[in-house]
Amino acid sequence: MSKPCQNCRQPNPPEAVFCFNCASPLSGEQNGGGRQFNQQWNQRQAGQNFAQPAALPGAASRRAIIAAVLAFAGMICCIPLTSIPAIIVGRMEINAIKQGQSPLNGMKLAQVGFWGGIIVILLQIVGFLFWLLLSMVSAVLEP
Ligand SMILES: [Zn+2]
Repeated sequence: MSKPCQNCRQPNPPEAVFCFNCASPLSGEQNGGGRQFNQQWNQRQAGQNFAQPAALPGAASRRAIIAAVLAFAGMICCIPLTSIPAIIVGRMEINAIKQGQSPLNGMKLAQVGFWGGIIVILLQIVGFLFWLLLSMVSAVLEP
């Protein structure tokens, strides 16, 4: 059962106190926590100009995409330069999604960024140690 906004006709969940689309107050206030949540939401929306009306549905956020892109860049370029921000951004986005502040569809991308970044760094460490071993061996073997 949805609650249509009297201002813009946007259907809102029954517990919503402020319209997800235009942030105008909806009639029938009863939920203090929901009200605070909606207020924060609408402030975020106004600031970031999100097209998606609610937290959980909708496309992946830009931060989730950035995390995944950074992780892939780290895999291709073989430098930890992009893997570290991929882990940080991915972690932030996973937290934001768990707190309902970011679209759930970004979860996979955020996890790809977070774990991809960690895997890339581990591979780079292993690769570096292997390279170190090889150069030590070749130094010993060379006349
Ligand atoms: Zn509205």
